Amino acid sequence: MKWFAAALASMAALAGAVPLASAELGPLCGTGRNAAICFASVDRSGKLSYEQRAQLAAAAPVAIDIVGSRRFARELAAFHAAMPKRWVERNRYWRGFDPAEAPKTIRAAFAGLHIDTRGGARARRAARFGDNLAYEGSTDPRTGERFILLNRYRVDRPLEGLVATYVHEAAHKAGYSHRSGQTPDQKCEPPYVMAQLARKLADPEGWPSFAASKNACRFWRDMPDAL
Ligand SMILES: [Zn+2]
Repeated sequence: MKWFAAALASMAALAGAVPLASAELGPLCGTGRNAAICFASVDRSGKLSYEQRAQLAAAAPVAIDIVGSRRFARELAAFHAAMPKRWVERNRYWRGFDPAEAPKTIRAAFAGLHIDTRGGARARRAARFGDNLAYEGSTDPRTGERFILLNRYRVDRPLEGLVATYVHEAAHKAGYSHRSGQTPDQKCEPPYVMAQLARKLADPEGWPSFAASKNACRFWRDMPDAL
């Protein structure tokens, strides 16, 4: 399908506009009561193939709908309540966490967010060593546009992985944080936990094996099955 992507790119170049390519991807909005929440764009730099862009775009509505669902709010509150009390009290990233407020702030962070990509030597190294899949990005000081950056060499991932990445990075935008350094504790801090929960709802069948892996917060393994 290389010729098709090339044809599309030259058409876009002729039209002098990215919108042609974006329009082909379909809406980046949620559905139902989340229909008004929309990501702004995918891959503004146009460095990905059409298939890759379509893949990233397909995960956008799923992420919005999941975080906007009653089930996400309910399970997040249940997980938060079931975490070891002393551990939570001593963890500064959970301080002041309001499980009713968190999904709303992440939902709001999705709105108008650009899903950009990042290449270069550092991203290539991170991809090779299974390090950063994405970066928090920042806000364009001139336009006020907010963006996250996906590692360009790690975008070929299953839908639930992309959904988890969007939730994690949007959680940062919403002000949630975690410690650095890929520690086991880090996986139990708010951006990771909320991303894991979104992954669970996006891929219930794959969840048991993910929950048993080192990429999941260890507290999931002690939770009742209902969670
Ligand atoms: Zn992070």
